[in-house]
Amino acid sequence: MTSSLATINDEFLSPSLPEQVAAVKSRYAEVFGNPPQWVVAAPGRVNLIGEHTDYNAGFVFPLAIERYTVIAAGRPLRTTASDAIRVHSTLFDETAEFSLSNLEPERRDWTSYLRGAFAGCLERGLQPGTLDLLVDSKVPQGGGLSSSAALEVATATLVEAVTGRTLDRVDKSRLAQTAEHVYAGMPCGIMDQFSSALGAAGKLLLIDCRTETAELIPLDDPSVALLVINSNVKHELTGSEYPDRRAQCEQSAKLLGVAMLRDVTSKQLEANRGQLAPLLYRRAHHVVGEIERTTRAAAALQAGDWPLVGELMYASHDSLRDDFEVSCPELDVLVEAAREVGADGGVIGARMTGGGFGGCIVALVRAGREREIADRIAAAYRARTGIEATAFVTKPARGAHIVEG
Ligand code: ADP
Ligand code: MG
Repeated sequence: MTSSLATINDEFLSPSLPEQVAAVKSRYAEVFGNPPQWVVAAPGRVNLIGEHTDYNAGFVFPLAIERYTVIAAGRPLRTTASDAIRVHSTLFDETAEFSLSNLEPERRDWTSYLRGAFAGCLERGLQPGTLDLLVDSKVPQGGGLSSSAALEVATATLVEAVTGRTLDRVDKSRLAQTAEHVYAGMPCGIMDQFSSALGAAGKLLLIDCRTETAELIPLDDPSVALLVINSNVKHELTGSEYPDRRAQCEQSAKLLGVAMLRDVTSKQLEANRGQLAPLLYRRAHHVVGEIERTTRAAAALQAGDWPLVGELMYASHDSLRDDFEVSCPELDVLVEAAREVGADGGVIGARMTGGGFGGCIVALVRAGREREIADRIAAAYRARTGIEATAFVTKPARGAHIVEG
């Protein structure tokens, strides 16, 4: 019999940040010829519940994950212009260049996230000067775990290290969000950048996206663990799904006579259902229900009511699939497989996480059974789709910070 453990990728457990940092420093020296002067790290995030609620001024309930984007930096050895940035990505094994005096907001490539974050720092008076950078990330890219936010927040943190200035962390999140809007053309809410900037070890963040404040909620029950399973698919569709959903939410709010869908309760939505065409009603129904589920889940988690947390996660998935229509067959298969493993098999709850149309699911499971559960879900997924899933466990991790320098 082949070991079922072999079906799950390596790095099922968290890669160690010190080891990643050591590897990044030696790679930096290889690429640029001298050791780096500064090293920073910013994590990706996984959202336990509260999807597509952030841009409706609602609640989200994410945690920073033990997967970091690390940036090493130093002053160039060669003679350069005082505003020249050269950056190497280990992901693409590619070096790109740009200038701090012409950050080209319209240019779209992987440096957009960096250029956008530099722009925000410059606007706030932080002038880093010429730099060589090396970017290395353990956040899977395009998987709904916010490798983009990790890159933006890491860049802003690097500028803090280089300039010796400290940005207010909420302002740093906003700066990174603006980078994503303007430089990457993605009109995201505040959740991803906020989680990366403000994440705390052992804590989830119940973020009120209206006030942009977070309550830190400990996840300290040793009997539960978090499992992230990547479908390893990403459906591009037309690319306008996210802005379309956002526009539909804004339109629903307008027709309901409120500023944001946050301002509507489920009861009010039902009473005013006639104001909305069926499609807009379904979109609003998801958001309004999801905001309520999120605050209920946070309370249930604090009370250790795991069956209720699980039920709310499954309800969130169903709503994202049926009302908000941002799931996809692969994510549905993963969540179905988790449901089949069920409470007896150690699964408390599961749902798609992130924007949708591919990427990951998050499952809350019984500690000690993580690998067995991941294997069972991956086997069902393989049998039904022919695709290999990858999985890892994580605890809530520390947010962005300066590692050296
Ligand atoms: P997600 O945030 O869910 O991972 P996005 O599409 O928002 O997905 O962001 C992924 C993009 O971020 C990549 O296409 C790439 O441009 C950039 N990116 C992520 N990680 C890296 C990296 N290590 N090096 C360079 N660019 C990266
Ligand atoms: Mg992203």
